Amino acid sequence: MIRRRKTRKVRVGNLFIGGDAPILIQSMVKVPTSDTKGVLSQIKRLEECGCEAVRLAIVNDEDLSSLKKIKKSVKIPLIADIQFHPSLAVKAISAGADKIRLNPGNMDKRGLKRIARLAAERRIPLRIGANSGSVKRMEKKGVALSLVRVVDDWRKFFEDIGFFDLVISLKTPEVESTIESYRLMASKCGYPFHLGVTEAGSGRQAIVKSSLGIGVLLHEGIGDTIRVSLTEPPEEEVKVGQEILQSLKIRFFHPEIISCPTCGRCEIDLPKIVKEVKKKLSTRGTRLRVAQLSTLKIAIMGCVVNGPGEAKQADIGIAGGKKSGLLFKKGKPIRKIKEEKLVEELLKEIEK
Ligand code: SF4
Repeated sequence: MIRRRKTRKVRVGNLFIGGDAPILIQSMVKVPTSDTKGVLSQIKRLEECGCEAVRLAIVNDEDLSSLKKIKKSVKIPLIADIQFHPSLAVKAISAGADKIRLNPGNMDKRGLKRIARLAAERRIPLRIGANSGSVKRMEKKGVALSLVRVVDDWRKFFEDIGFFDLVISLKTPEVESTIESYRLMASKCGYPFHLGVTEAGSGRQAIVKSSLGIGVLLHEGIGDTIRVSLTEPPEEEVKVGQEILQSLKIRFFHPEIISCPTCGRCEIDLPKIVKEVKKKLSTRGTRLRVAQLSTLKIAIMGCVVNGPGEAKQADIGIAGGKKSGLLFKKGKPIRKIKEEKLVEELLKEIEK
C-alpha cells in the first residue's frame, strides 16, 4: 500500500495537482505554439489518449496570440513554458494560461515578483524548478544537493513574497540523482512535485529510465504530476505515464493483460492472440473503457503448467492446449475453445 506524501493542493484549470487529487499525467506539445492548427491537432490526439494537462513553449508574441486562440478551443488545462522573459509569463497569464512553468534562475527578481503578483490575482500556480545542467555552483556532495539547494532558495523567495501555489520540479537526466533530489526536497517542504527524468531519450532506454525514476518515487509516495520525457510523439509520453501509474496500482486505465513469455510447451500462437486482444480492447470504444473494465485482469497463458493457475486468479483467462484453449472466468473453467475462435470468445466473455 503506497502512502502518499501530504502536499498542498493547487488548482490547474478545472483540475488539481497535489493533496488528494489523482496523480495528473501531462505532456508537452512538440510543434511551435504559433502553429495554432498544428497545436490543436496535437492536443486533440493527446486528449484522446488520456493526457490531462498540456504544456506549450511560449517564446514570442506570435505564440501568445496563438495561445489565446487555443485556450478558447480546448478544455484541457494549458501550461505556458517560459524561459528568460518575465514579460512573456505575464502576458501568458493574461492570455489564459492555467499554470506557468519557469526556471526562476534565468529571470530577474523584479520580473518574478510581477509574475507572482498576477498569478496570485488569477489564482494560477507556478511550477518552479531547475535542471541539473543549469546549476552553476555544484556542491562537492553532488548533483542532488546542489539542485535542491538552488530550488529550495527559490521556494523561500516565493514564500517571502507571499506566493504559495507552487509546484516543484528537480530535473536530471539520471535515475539515481532524480530520486535522490526529490527525496531530499520532500524532507524540506510540502509543495506538490512534478516528476520526470529529463531528456531521457527515446525507445526502450527512455522508457526504462523514466519508469525507474518516476516509479521508485511514486512507490515512496512522492509525486503529484508526471511527465515522461521522450524524443517521440507526445501521445507515447502519456501512454508510458499511464503504464507506470497502472503498474503501481495507483490509477487504472485499461484492463491488465497477463501473458506468459511462451516456451517449447506452447501449442498455440500466443503472441498473435495477445496482440489481437490488446488491439481489440483498445479500439472497441467506450464500452470497454468504463471504470470496471479498467481494473479487469485478463490472463492469456500458453499451456497447462502455469496456465490454469494464472487464468484462475485473473477475472478471466485462457490456458492454452493443443491448438485450443480452456476459458476460465472468476476462477472456474467455462469451456474449451478452438484456437481460431479464442480471441472472439474471450472478448465476448469480457463484454458480458
Ligand atoms: S505457461 Fe506454459 S507455455 Fe507459457 S511459459 Fe509457462 S510453461 Fe511455457
